[in-house]
Amino acid sequence: MFKILTSAGNDLFDLIYPVSCLVCGDRQVDRRHLCAYCLDHAFEPSNEDGRESSEGLVLPEWITMQQTLWEFDKGGFLQDVLHHVKYSGLADLGVTLGENLGKELLNNRYLRVSHETILLPVPLHPARERKRGYNQSFLIAFGIANVTGAEIAPHGAVQRIRNTRTQTGLNASNRRKNLSGAFTIREQQAFVNRDVIIVDDVITTGATVFELASLIRGYCGKIGVATIARA
Ligand SMILES: [Zn+2]
Repeated sequence: MFKILTSAGNDLFDLIYPVSCLVCGDRQVDRRHLCAYCLDHAFEPSNEDGRESSEGLVLPEWITMQQTLWEFDKGGFLQDVLHHVKYSGLADLGVTLGENLGKELLNNRYLRVSHETILLPVPLHPARERKRGYNQSFLIAFGIANVTGAEIAPHGAVQRIRNTRTQTGLNASNRRKNLSGAFTIREQQAFVNRDVIIVDDVITTGATVFELASLIRGYCGKIGVATIARA
């Protein structure tokens, strides 16, 4: 009886608040914001070998790999999806994207992901995180952890101490300046001798992840970068 009631309740909930795929618009009975078909077909795959970097993006020698799922599509569906992950609190979407990225990471030839690996979501400034209620990079890292068994760095192990202005519209060198000194390490021992994968939604010039990597590269193992898109 309880089961019937619960199922009726779900149907009613679904009727009042239906969930549709953000790309094709199909109603989703499992209440996911991206349907399985669109997840597999809607976006342009990128970086299949897990090391190749985007045009104009030179990986420093001390970054072992950069794994990306898709090419960023300015004004397209992927931009829309990532905007929702960042601002609309669609937690399931962030985790789903992270799980897909995790599957790719399991095939990465340059850094073997295991339960010993530490995932470091790019931290938001605490004031911004409080206002937004969550950190989108954490949702993605959570999905990666589900698939790979890797461990997420303790919240606050690295902290953003400066709420930097937006990176949009800045060139690579100004982005680096804008981020210099933006982060500090609070729990160094979390990274000692561990391979670390820095997790973000989009990689553009790499200024953010390079700045983070420069803080830990002296004492951690390999450093990798994993993002949903590259612009
Ligand atoms: Zn769809």
